[in-house]
Amino acid sequence: MSARNDWHPDTRTVHTPVPDLAGSRPLGVPIHQNHLFAFDDSDAMADSFAEPGGPYVYGRMGNPTVHALEQAVADLEGGVGGIATGSGMGAINAVLLSLLRSGDHVIAQRCLYGATMTMLKILAERWGVEVTYISGEDPAEVSAALRPNTRVLYMETITNPTVRVADLPAHFAVAKKAGVVCVVDNTYASPTLCRPIEHGADVVVHSITKYISGHGDVLGGIAVFADGEMRHKVWEFANELGPNADPFAAWLTIRGLQTLPLRVRRHCDNALSLATRLSGHPAVSSVAYPGLAGHPDHKVAARLLDGGYGGVLSFELTGGREAGRRFCSALRLISVAASLGSTRTLALHPASTSHRQLDDAQLAAADISPGLIRVAVGIEDPEDLWRDLAQALDAAG
Ligand SMILES: *Cc1c(COP(=O)(O)O)cnc(C)c1O
Repeated sequence: MSARNDWHPDTRTVHTPVPDLAGSRPLGVPIHQNHLFAFDDSDAMADSFAEPGGPYVYGRMGNPTVHALEQAVADLEGGVGGIATGSGMGAINAVLLSLLRSGDHVIAQRCLYGATMTMLKILAERWGVEVTYISGEDPAEVSAALRPNTRVLYMETITNPTVRVADLPAHFAVAKKAGVVCVVDNTYASPTLCRPIEHGADVVVHSITKYISGHGDVLGGIAVFADGEMRHKVWEFANELGPNADPFAAWLTIRGLQTLPLRVRRHCDNALSLATRLSGHPAVSSVAYPGLAGHPDHKVAARLLDGGYGGVLSFELTGGREAGRRFCSALRLISVAASLGSTRTLALHPASTSHRQLDDAQLAAADISPGLIRVAVGIEDPEDLWRDLAQALDAAG
């Protein structure tokens, strides 16, 4: 049999490493729902407290099912190991809180996942961490923002909801020269489309809730590390912080992971097809999708993303805020919901939901127009999706 290292990602996702039992091996990772592990004597137990990945002691410090997930995602991302958590924010916060202390400086992309932005604000206001925001359009912004106390550069592979793609390798190169730790949220791309560690990232974080688990039935997160020492440091901190993944959630995620490359390719194909058709519709004034030649980051995305441009697109209705509300009410197959990365297609009108407290000027400052619709494209038949979008566009006027 060929060595695991020679396998392509499509093979490695199906063949998650399974711990051996005596004499045979289960074809699939078992759930170890227990949180306690016993030892022959106290010396054996004492030795186990210092290392992640076993021998296991107590569930908050490690669990074989959770560890199998950590290994599987680290394998896909090209990292040395991971720390799986109960949510994406659990992973992001475990990383930021372990790396940062008051007086440190962070450089972060301006347009990040909402809860991450809130966390950076909290770090700045209550924990004495300084944050400088950059657009992600020019790596020179990183050199201009660097200070002697800069500790972390924080970016996302594909941003929300305008699906911008920054030149990550160029940004990381500037930061690394200054000894700054590069953290990237790779949720929107998944390791199928992008492996940021190959481009210089030190830590990759994911909301497993999205593409990695993939079926809308798990809340989870993971941080994957390029370096064992940093993983160990974050693991020690996470042991005290307690953001752990539950073994059953980890097991469901491993089950979902097996079809990740298949699903992601379908998400991407469907999204490109819908983005192309939306571009020609009279009720739509613009479409944002990195797979379209007219997207400002199309060239960067073509270089950085491998085999597709992601499953999220957004478009602008000519009819503005009211048209957005009518469009969402008219959808029949597509659900009005906030998340992404599940098998189902979901649509969101930020101006009447997540951002309804903002007036038009405030929306513009957040890069969101009143008629903007975000679609997290699922894996249904693209013709059925288009029919639903088309009739809702007619209803929106
Ligand atoms: C959903 C999401 C998160 C947060 O993940 P949870 O699992 O909801 O905690 C972080 N980053 C991005 C890009 C996301 O889409």
